[in-house]
Amino acid sequence: MDSNSNITQIKGIGEALASKFEKLNIFTIKDLLFHIPYKYQDTSEVLSIEQFLLAGKGTFIAEIVSVKTFYTRFKKQITTVRVKDDTGSLSLIYFNQPYLSKTLGIGELYLFNAQVTLKAGKRNIYNPKIEKLKDDVSQQTHLGKLISVYSETKGLSSRILRTKIKELKPDVKKIIIDPLDSRILVQNNLLTLPDSIEKIHFPETNDEIISARERLSFDEMLKIAFRIEKEVLEQKKEKAKPIKIDAKLTNQFIKSLPYTLTDDQNSSLETILDEISKEKPMNRLLNGDVGSGKTVVSAIAILNTISAGYSAILIAPTTVLATQHFETFKKLFKDFDLQVELCISSEKTITDASNKLIIGTHAILYQQELPSDLNLVVIDEQHRFGVEQRKYLKTKTKNTPHYLTMTATPIPRSLTEIFFGNLDVSEIKEKPADRKEIKTYYTPYTKRNDCFDWIVKKIKDSNFKEQAFVIYPLIEESEKTAVKSVLNEFTSLQEKYVNMKIAFMHGKLKPKNKEQILNDFRDKKYNILISTTVIEVGIDIPDVTMMVIENAERFGLAQLHQLRGRIGRNDMQSYCYVIPGQEATEDPDVKERLQYFASHPSGFEVADYDLQRRGPGEVYGTRQSGIPNFKVASIHDLDTLKKARKVARELLITDNNVDDILENLFR
Ligand code: ADP
Ligand code: MG
Repeated sequence: MDSNSNITQIKGIGEALASKFEKLNIFTIKDLLFHIPYKYQDTSEVLSIEQFLLAGKGTFIAEIVSVKTFYTRFKKQITTVRVKDDTGSLSLIYFNQPYLSKTLGIGELYLFNAQVTLKAGKRNIYNPKIEKLKDDVSQQTHLGKLISVYSETKGLSSRILRTKIKELKPDVKKIIIDPLDSRILVQNNLLTLPDSIEKIHFPETNDEIISARERLSFDEMLKIAFRIEKEVLEQKKEKAKPIKIDAKLTNQFIKSLPYTLTDDQNSSLETILDEISKEKPMNRLLNGDVGSGKTVVSAIAILNTISAGYSAILIAPTTVLATQHFETFKKLFKDFDLQVELCISSEKTITDASNKLIIGTHAILYQQELPSDLNLVVIDEQHRFGVEQRKYLKTKTKNTPHYLTMTATPIPRSLTEIFFGNLDVSEIKEKPADRKEIKTYYTPYTKRNDCFDWIVKKIKDSNFKEQAFVIYPLIEESEKTAVKSVLNEFTSLQEKYVNMKIAFMHGKLKPKNKEQILNDFRDKKYNILISTTVIEVGIDIPDVTMMVIENAERFGLAQLHQLRGRIGRNDMQSYCYVIPGQEATEDPDVKERLQYFASHPSGFEVADYDLQRRGPGEVYGTRQSGIPNFKVASIHDLDTLKKARKVARELLITDNNVDDILENLFR
């Protein structure tokens, strides 16, 4: 029997039971040993019957006096077990476990763990956990010590899992091979893998659980560390063409801006310009809050790339946004001799492009031959954590272009270390100085009408200069319900506020229509735009100073923040109202979350709160983001990641059997 043997090799696991294990994704011996308890129950404090009755629950040792099984009127089997010790006696009641009559030995000692139930003043003890007392408590499996509790499935309880794992215990050292040598373990103060597997299932003390978990976390982090360090090694081999920075031109451009750059903008810019002037390709993440001015930073890098005689590509997530960027960049570069081209239709070819900026969506990377003088790629509003584009680009370009990724919402540091570990990161936390902080209010459902009245009044008071967004979420991914909400809201607002010009927009409309609506809205043909989250990413309409987010409880905070970033984009005071749906408005959790959001303007804080509360899978979507499903490690444990990266680096340089190591790590 080895680690890859099927679990049917274990005594007492036949096809039927094996199919239950499969429900827990347990197929092999190794899968079973790697099925980690999610908690422990401490049953080590053993009470007398008298103490047990006083406490109402706990573990006690007692001698079996009698066992009787009978049928109730409803054909249920009831077994009463009479037990005693020096301090008293008790009757225990078991349902549908008639075999107890045969297996329990009269006069023998057993451990029990139970809870007292009071019914009509009568004390009952139902279905206590039970295990025969062994000579040595360390030999107990289910009671009298720290007991592992597992995720279970129907017909497969923690008790069965524990029993089956225990059968493997004597052989764990033979079955589990530690892929890490003792030098690494000593240096990092870690248990061996077989040891930690043994202790994670059958710990004697809490400290043993902690050290076992440390080792298992390390392995999970090591897997990520290998991925990062492999990338880093690859990158070391890559070469870009250094871009000669034109300081005079750069200053001239900065002077042409209608504002001064913030300190954070300046410092990230300095780093970026320094890096693109090197032969080592830049691979940097610009991690910035919404509206912190990432675009202009990228513009200066682009300006230098083109003036040095190369081409640059700017990738936006949608055609709407690409078009908006095209307009922005034309304006930014209007006094500079620089060609900007929009490339959002697949027919258009960019093969002959040279020495210009090309703006498009991800599609251009895949549809086109890339310009041979390409030397900078900027990815804007990166949502996913993939590094696919860069990998793909490597296959298409001779030299590696410099690479700048800009985030859509700020990403907490723990996530950037894990997902962008091989990238260098610049953060822009500061907002431009002229910005007024957006006032965000948690608004209960009952105040909803007042909220709309107020907004409409404010639009009128501003002489129809100021505008408002009303946002609906995609409910359970169903575009249809969201569209319905948008249309209903449109009708009812239109009836109520006859002076208001209201438009609606949703994902079912054609891109051309959406663009038209947005342009008309920008041109003040409408005062209020009701929309699903299609407006989420990057839209920049400065006179929209108000936003209502309906069913706000359905959004993650990072997403709410991204939405909120659509307002507060000039020097006027902006207001954001987050309104939970009617059913959710009483939920204290919802209230707490939305109030946190309302009182925290920083996207970094909001994203961190979300990550702590809901976990990375919930916030970023596990599958699409490639976030690992840690069994033991915590995503916030950056110390372990750091140690693991050091080990991975060493192993990659010295050991060529990394695949073997990966295969045998706890995972
Ligand atoms: P994001 O970082 O979300 O992509 P943008 O780059 O779109 O933000 O910038 C948002 C707005 O702020 C734009 O209208 C831009 O012109 C403006 N802006 C950028 N930097 C500054 C600054 N330092 N001072 C004032 N306004 C700025
Ligand atoms: Mg942007």
